[in-house]
Amino acid sequence: MTSELYLQSATELAEKLRAGETTSEELVKIFLERIKNLDGTIHAFLFVDEAGALETARQVDADRAAGKELPPYAGVPIAIKDNLVTRGRPTTCGSKILEGWLPPYDATVVLKLREAGLPVLGKTNMDEFAMGSSTEHSAYGLTRNPWDLERIPGGSGGGSAAAVAAYLAPWALGSDTGGSIRQPGAVTGTVGAKPTYGAVSRYGLVAMASSLDQIGPVTRCVSDAAALHTIIAGHDPLDATSLDEPVPDLSTAVTEVVANPNTTKLRVGVVKQISGEGFQAGVRQRFDEAVERLRAAGASIVEVDCPSFEYSLAAYYLIMPAEVSSNLARFDGVRYGLRVLPESGPVTAETMMAATREAGFGPEVKRRIILGTHVLSAGYFDAYYGSAQKVRTLVQRDLAAAFEQCDVLISPTAPTTAFKFGDKLDDPMAMYLNDVATIPANMAGIPAISVPGGVAPEDGLPVGIQILAPARGDKTMYAAAALVEAQLATSDTPMPPCPAARWTTTAGKEAAK
Ligand code: GLN
Repeated sequence: MTSELYLQSATELAEKLRAGETTSEELVKIFLERIKNLDGTIHAFLFVDEAGALETARQVDADRAAGKELPPYAGVPIAIKDNLVTRGRPTTCGSKILEGWLPPYDATVVLKLREAGLPVLGKTNMDEFAMGSSTEHSAYGLTRNPWDLERIPGGSGGGSAAAVAAYLAPWALGSDTGGSIRQPGAVTGTVGAKPTYGAVSRYGLVAMASSLDQIGPVTRCVSDAAALHTIIAGHDPLDATSLDEPVPDLSTAVTEVVANPNTTKLRVGVVKQISGEGFQAGVRQRFDEAVERLRAAGASIVEVDCPSFEYSLAAYYLIMPAEVSSNLARFDGVRYGLRVLPESGPVTAETMMAATREAGFGPEVKRRIILGTHVLSAGYFDAYYGSAQKVRTLVQRDLAAAFEQCDVLISPTAPTTAFKFGDKLDDPMAMYLNDVATIPANMAGIPAISVPGGVAPEDGLPVGIQILAPARGDKTMYAAAALVEAQLATSDTPMPPCPAARWTTTAGKEAAK
């Protein structure tokens, strides 16, 4: 039985730990072993913290043996995205410019994981500075989708999603600026949630676009996501945008739905602009089926109109780079990581900074810094950045009006299933279009989650269903997500186990060849 512990959810593992049926050290060793045998192929991790994870695990086990009262998930290991700073442990953000940097402090969420007794297995791969939808923009190589090794695991948090999908970790943390938790969730058949803006502290999350960034859970089921969200949420004086209010009881919301999934009074809105038109046929089919299942369970379905969504992607790709250009100014060869001196000419602070940034940043990061600097420049500010901010307000108003008619909104998470490596790499616009359904939630600061919606008939690859709720409505969001999950679990198109479920230590090497 022990060998199958890796297949279990974080909540199941926590129960086993409490019942004395396993130890944290045993669990950490199982996942470290899987990482050792399978991550050469998947490449979900940039850094594996064997010593740190074992140390936490042994401490938790000793405390439990001594009869100490422990937090509910103490001892369940986790993986975290490499843009969360970890004291004395590498934090690269998938960029050469941070190679070798050891942060002097822990992000607030990392401290919270520590308080909760969660051993951190390591840091996961990502598009450089969280810019991308495929993890192909990492300076440290690809992460492979455990459903099909020739396909992308989504991005920017492809590493966290692939680690959870391939059972290299029971759960993980990601960050979501325009969809980087949800879209990887959709294409790897995992659950990914972006909390309400401000619900989780951003202190120690290396900033991409501060007004859009939010840390959130990556899991295999909705109840794990609600539990992990609860662990990391809460007011933090170190983040000026942190909400100063109690964390809602998210797990109870899920349990109530799971106990009674066939009668609901939920009012569900289908947004006309992101209801699947132009999306891959199988994505649309699975989405339509999910909506019908909700209707059959008693939900009332209304169509809502959000006309500004049409401009939301364009506005995001002006606001986000503007913030990127400012946030990434700090990587200058003076304070962190890489320093490169010019090959010729005088060595001044300015030439050193230019040489460092030229060598340290990849093409997508440079593209966005240049674009962001341009849209903020005098003469262009009003036309681009100013207009984009107006669109942002319109998106917020559209959503506020929509939520007067319904409790949650539903859409496909991504327009297609996982695409092949290289398919969109040379076409930034095609890459950006992956975010069309996920961006509005970041623009409005509202919570949103992606849950598995079965596989597309044409390619057998996972489809994600997205649920959006009003700001501070995280509880409603998890309840609706649990409903979709429970409904689809009994439908004709359930999610088959990811092939990685069958990759035992030796079989994995075979499957992965
Ligand atoms: N794909 C989006 C982008 O490239 C999302 C990024 C994110 O959420 N970090 O900007």
